[in-house]
Amino acid sequence: MKRSSIRHCFLVAVLVSTIALVLFGFIIIKLSEMGIFNDTSTTSASSGQNEAQKIETVTDNPPDLELIGDSLVKVDDINNYVEPGFSAEDDFDGNLTDSVQTELSQLNNYNYQIKYSVKDSAGNTTTKTRDIRVIIGIVCLTFDDGPSREITPQILDTLDAKGVNATFFITGFGEDKKDLVKREDKEGNVVALHGYSHEYSQIYNDINTLMTNFYKLEDLVKETIGKDSKIIRFPGGASNTVSKNYCPGIMTCAVQRVTDEGYIYVDWNVDSNDAGADAQNSEAIYTNVVQGLKPGRTNVVLMHDRAEKQATADALPNIIDYCLDNGYDIQVITPETSVKSSQHHPNN
Ligand SMILES: [Zn+2]
Repeated sequence: MKRSSIRHCFLVAVLVSTIALVLFGFIIIKLSEMGIFNDTSTTSASSGQNEAQKIETVTDNPPDLELIGDSLVKVDDINNYVEPGFSAEDDFDGNLTDSVQTELSQLNNYNYQIKYSVKDSAGNTTTKTRDIRVIIGIVCLTFDDGPSREITPQILDTLDAKGVNATFFITGFGEDKKDLVKREDKEGNVVALHGYSHEYSQIYNDINTLMTNFYKLEDLVKETIGKDSKIIRFPGGASNTVSKNYCPGIMTCAVQRVTDEGYIYVDWNVDSNDAGADAQNSEAIYTNVVQGLKPGRTNVVLMHDRAEKQATADALPNIIDYCLDNGYDIQVITPETSVKSSQHHPNN
């Protein structure tokens, strides 16, 4: 081929290629304007985001670890503990229940803790704990003679802070103390009957007066918290002898009468002596209570809720701690509670 012909062919080829490229570019621009490529570009951007999220998920999210059952389990012997179970799930690794490690440690003679831990493939660890308490006896904390503006709120604050409840044997109260009774009930405590009046000379004159003294308070409690109260404590206890001054034989008659009418009378088998010589001594009140506790029974602890019982309120946190650290389960008194060992024999 001639040199001029070769040059001619080359120029034609360049021209055709240029036209083709310009046309292709034009089509691409048009298609872009029509939005043809927009979805694709969005998709690729969002899939990039998903990738980022996934990577973030793997690095940042520890596995979920769920304990089945309560966070505190009570047993009569640590060897009788039965694990209620657990499950673990990771958003990347899936089910990790079989990888959960458990470790039992003893905190003191009666309290144990199980630590559960699980690790995902990215090295994130989740741990949870469950407390186990060995129970050797029951304690029912009881407070007589309230409500009182000075002491009731302190007792309730302590009970709430320690996560336990008590039984309040209250007397008649006015409009100004309704909130205290409502709070006792609302926070899980039991409002029980001590009698509308506490005046021995009035209530122990005859059995009908004594019963009316319970009915009147029962109605007031029902009106205040909307609940029936069938748990009672005689002023001075069933064994009081002060009633002899007003009506010989009334207590023997009374324990029968209240029982026949469906009430459960409760006395005490642990005396804090906060109504006696130790009324102002919170350390002595504490010692009286903890030395009076016995395993294997319902320990009904007598304390008082009156304006002047600051020492009782002061002793309460340590009393509760002692119970919880030494195998005593703190419970309220209900019709199901075994209170026989607390009931005094009438002396009149
Ligand atoms: Zn009393």
